[in-house]
Amino acid sequence: MSERFEGSFTQQEPIPDEGIEAAMRVMQHGRLHRYNTHGDEIAEAALLEEEFAEQVGAKYCLAVASGGVAMSTALRASGVKHGDAVLTNAFTLAPVPGAIAAVGGVPVYVEVTADLVIDLDDLAAKVGQAKVLLLSHMRGHICDMERVMAICNAAGVTVIEDCAHTMGAAWDGVPSGRWGRFGCYSTQTYKHVNSGEGGLLISDDAEGMARAIMLSGSYMLFEKHRAAPPIETFAQIKYETPNISGRMDNLRAAILRPQLRKLSEQAGKWNARYRAVEAGLRDVPGLTLIVRPEKESFVASSFQFLLSDWSSEAVADVIARCAKRGVELKWFGGAEPKGFTSRYDSWRYADVPDLPETDKVLAGIIDMRLPLTFSLDDCAQIARIIRAEVGAVWQEVGVS
Ligand SMILES: *Cc1c(COP(=O)(O)O)cnc(C)c1O
Repeated sequence: MSERFEGSFTQQEPIPDEGIEAAMRVMQHGRLHRYNTHGDEIAEAALLEEEFAEQVGAKYCLAVASGGVAMSTALRASGVKHGDAVLTNAFTLAPVPGAIAAVGGVPVYVEVTADLVIDLDDLAAKVGQAKVLLLSHMRGHICDMERVMAICNAAGVTVIEDCAHTMGAAWDGVPSGRWGRFGCYSTQTYKHVNSGEGGLLISDDAEGMARAIMLSGSYMLFEKHRAAPPIETFAQIKYETPNISGRMDNLRAAILRPQLRKLSEQAGKWNARYRAVEAGLRDVPGLTLIVRPEKESFVASSFQFLLSDWSSEAVADVIARCAKRGVELKWFGGAEPKGFTSRYDSWRYADVPDLPETDKVLAGIIDMRLPLTFSLDDCAQIARIIRAEVGAVWQEVGVS
């Protein structure tokens, strides 16, 4: 009998004890709303913002209800209005074009390369079509940030970073999220810290952050924020900015604070798992590993490889064979969006352009999560199973 993997690809670690205890305290006092503070008490949400700003070296931070809210808030705070075009990667996850749609914007997709990052030549060609780029570091792959900023700065295009998969990561030593005007993070269960739902937004831009705080639903209580711009910044903005409630509560903030303190330790564990899978998948005929650039320091909560130029039947066969042996792979190129959606042509509320380079990548990209509940032995076993099944299908199709 061939070996079978018995672990769960969707099982994250428990919340650390410290987080559980902090959450208990919030529930015991009952002041879950971030602006419900007693005397000179500082809300957990305000402390979370202060600590995360400090951790990434940003002036300002705002905690919100989800990564999607962080992105739509950043877009709106950057002046995106109904009908405005917004550039974004063609390979990303549904909440990214969804955030653009939420503010009435129109996604303009930029091709992605076989390194799974935005194609900067295609960006340079399209940069004149919009005033904002929502750059998604999809699956934690970071493009050449110096070049993307040079292209966008020259064209007067604002960059907003989607760091849902790059919390704790950096390009050339500068944290992901610190390159653009805004950095947006998700604290949803499958990301790098887990509060069920939640998001964080960072910026050095006082006016942009004042607008973001108003947008998030601050009820003129912005003075209770700590990682926020000076009060004078709000003088006019407070009258002009709608309140679109999307706040984070103190319970989630309490759960997150101890997790953020462990982030770099966790990153080390994720990357050890990534390297274990990578080592096990070296030199498999027909399977292409993603080369990680030297300037990129990543946090690998998931793993990708390419079956480039394989027929869709052969790819589907690999997925089915691995699934039988307990290895749950995602094929982002699958024709029907099931369980997740990452194909730009399944987002039919927006124009579906012709993107041959992205189509080629999507047709062969295989993805899996690497939760920290996997041991290094688990990772080696997963790689052995993939290796065997890719090899078996490759032999069948390669010979015929
Ligand atoms: C998860 C995710 C987000 C934000 O997700 P929420 O579920 O809204 O917190 C944004 N971008 C990418 C690429 C994601 O995977």
